[in-house]
Amino acid sequence: MSKKILVLPGDGIGQEIVAEAVKVLRCLQADHGLAVELIDGVVGGTAYDQTGSPLPEETLAQARACDAVLLGAVGGPKWEGLDIAVRPEKGLLGLRKELGLFANLRPAILYPQLAEASTLKAEVVSGLDLMIVRELTGGIYFGQPRGVRTLDNGEREGFNTLVYRESEIERIVRSAMEIAMRRNKRVCSVDKANVLEATELWREVANRVGQEYPEVELSHMYVDNAAMQLVRAPKQFDVMVTTNMFGDILSDCAAMLTGSIGMLPSASLDANGKGMYEPIHGSAPDIAGKGVANPLATILSVAMMLRYSLNQPELAERVEQAVQQVLSQGLRTADIDSPGMTRLTTAQMGDAVVAGL
Ligand code: NAD
Repeated sequence: MSKKILVLPGDGIGQEIVAEAVKVLRCLQADHGLAVELIDGVVGGTAYDQTGSPLPEETLAQARACDAVLLGAVGGPKWEGLDIAVRPEKGLLGLRKELGLFANLRPAILYPQLAEASTLKAEVVSGLDLMIVRELTGGIYFGQPRGVRTLDNGEREGFNTLVYRESEIERIVRSAMEIAMRRNKRVCSVDKANVLEATELWREVANRVGQEYPEVELSHMYVDNAAMQLVRAPKQFDVMVTTNMFGDILSDCAAMLTGSIGMLPSASLDANGKGMYEPIHGSAPDIAGKGVANPLATILSVAMMLRYSLNQPELAERVEQAVQQVLSQGLRTADIDSPGMTRLTTAQMGDAVVAGL
């Protein structure tokens, strides 16, 4: 039975890069037996312009009915003055919430061909392949009570609540374990158990879930040390699993180890393998419409979709190999270009990956 994919280009370069990812999907459909149906939808500023909402009911219904969502990016200066309730970002947050996407997967991969792009020494990062699994729907970003209150002496006080239920910890750690089983079978759980009770519980539950996966080596690290180790020796990690806020920070740090924002995909999954796949970068209004954006992060997001929602690991590998091949041929978009390489447009890069397939 064919799987349904909702395609949401969104705003800015989203339109250009998603078009290239769709080329890849169409190629897999035509030549490699991938049974998928692609459905077009709108989200973000583009959706606001057309319907008055960044997440129209129809888009949400389409997303619920699909097996996976491919998203470009949302946002841009055109919509910055809007009321916060209808800003493009609301479209993205609404989709995550409504679809129950609690596991955010952020790989940081540095292809040896691009080792020079990192600000770290090539030998520290070349060949880096780590996966950060961030809890996305709980923790301090959502905990109640929260707010700013005025004390008796008139001074104001801001407060947030870090709260995790056992079931929330269990499901994210289990996701990380399942992912590790498909990789190098090592999980590092990151917490601050020496200071925060909520993460003391996190560690206890992680150990309990870990016992269900005897093949996986589970270790623990305090978040301050994890930040240090990420820049000191990032290749020691296979899968890292952590809370919403720690994951937010560590995954951006890990992304910058690779030095190329246009290369990094991401996935947000629910408990049943349904997912939303998107590049980690934004809508890049500074280069939108110029045909110079790097589509590889979006194409690699398709590879993640094949692996995690469509159960097509061989095709996922094929796409990743095609990307590697393109890089080995010295083909580059502007953001990853260096002397001696061949500069391509967004569309030419998409075509090169399709040729590689
Ligand atoms: P950005 O990621 O859009 O751009 C940062 C820099 O990286 C820019 O110089 C841009 O040209 C470059 N860049 C990004 N993607 C690239 C690509 N594929 N190829 C080549 N260069 C690329 O971040 P920003 O400028 O801070 O934000 C722009 C807009 O995007 C804002 O409205 C922001 O809210 C939104 N945004 C959306 C998402 C999302 O949809 N998930 C994420 C981050 C930012």
